Amino acid sequence: MTTCIACGSTRVEPFLDLHETTLANKFLAPDEIGAPEPRHPLVVGFCHDCSHVQLTHLVPPPEMFDDYLYISSLSKTLVDHLHGLAATVIERFRLGAGDLFIDVGCNDGTLLSEARRRGVRILGIDPARNLAPLAKKNGVDTLVAFFGAETARAVVAREGQASVVTATNVFPHIPALDDLVTGLDVVLKPGGVFVAEAHYLGDLLDACAFDTVYHEHCSYWSLHAAQRMFQRHGFEVVDVERLPIHHGQLRLFAQRRGEGRPSPAVATLLADEARRGMTGIECYKAFARRVEAIRAELNAAFAGFKAAGKTVVGYGAPAKGNTLLSYIGFGPGQLAYIADKSPLKQGRVTPGTHIPVVGPERLLADQPDYVLLLAWNFADEIMAEQAEYRARGGKFILPVPEVRIV
Ligand SMILES: [Zn+2]
Repeated sequence: MTTCIACGSTRVEPFLDLHETTLANKFLAPDEIGAPEPRHPLVVGFCHDCSHVQLTHLVPPPEMFDDYLYISSLSKTLVDHLHGLAATVIERFRLGAGDLFIDVGCNDGTLLSEARRRGVRILGIDPARNLAPLAKKNGVDTLVAFFGAETARAVVAREGQASVVTATNVFPHIPALDDLVTGLDVVLKPGGVFVAEAHYLGDLLDACAFDTVYHEHCSYWSLHAAQRMFQRHGFEVVDVERLPIHHGQLRLFAQRRGEGRPSPAVATLLADEARRGMTGIECYKAFARRVEAIRAELNAAFAGFKAAGKTVVGYGAPAKGNTLLSYIGFGPGQLAYIADKSPLKQGRVTPGTHIPVVGPERLLADQPDYVLLLAWNFADEIMAEQAEYRARGGKFILPVPEVRIV
């Protein structure tokens, strides 16, 4: 049993062990192969006191976030989403030139550049040194730091209090939740609002997306756990939305208790989670059994391919692919290579499993019999791009929510 990062309870029970893995974003360049790769246990637990789902072994955030390769503006969908969020927040809370808008984990400044364009005062906060110059180019000044009480006090001294703090996708990265909410209490002016987005645990269960578990994500948020966490600190979730982006997101609006009027959406989703059993561990044990079944099925299918002399490669080298490969136990013996569009990843090998990453043109050049789709969340887009490969008889293997060959 480990300690719950959301409520401090020691009644956190592990329910899914994805074994020891390397950090999912550490793709290796050729000259790095052979150097020691640190491995960390990847185990997910459930808190019997507040229902929070979290990793039981945390990797110190500076190891993962000081130098960060994921850049918001590379995805058109994500840029539109972040600009839309800036617009929504500014209109909903009627922000103007006198308001300060802070984005925690501001990355390359995509969200704040839109807030700035709309005439609101902005400040980005992000620990990644390599991203600050990119944000600057987008007109966004970044304070290179993790956000917490200390950073919040420094910001207030320099800029005054903020009307809005956003945290998109970084909310699940933050293990020091007490410090986060203390910081919000310091930095938000009366009536101010915290807007967080996170992969939604309900969607993770629906998609059996066990591969979205990796060390960067220490929390897997349900509304239930988030509400309990904020209430412990005198805040409350006043509104919630579910969004289709990424693998299904939760957008939360939290304010100091009594400063906002909770919308009916909050009670509706809490009731839905209770009905699904998300406040008890059985639901998560059932999920772990589905994950185990996927592993068994993929291993059986690949043994059959090998016996029949079939060739198999992978498509897509997202961080989550590395959780899947490591847990299933696949290496270059199972997948000769992985095709991916990102030039940053081509020429490298996957962390831990050392499968070479190549350009997608290899699919038509080699015409392998099967392609394991690791970037399954883009299945429609990828299969449309690879229509020729399929027309020639090639088949895709989708690993989740259950194994399918199409
Ligand atoms: Zn807890």
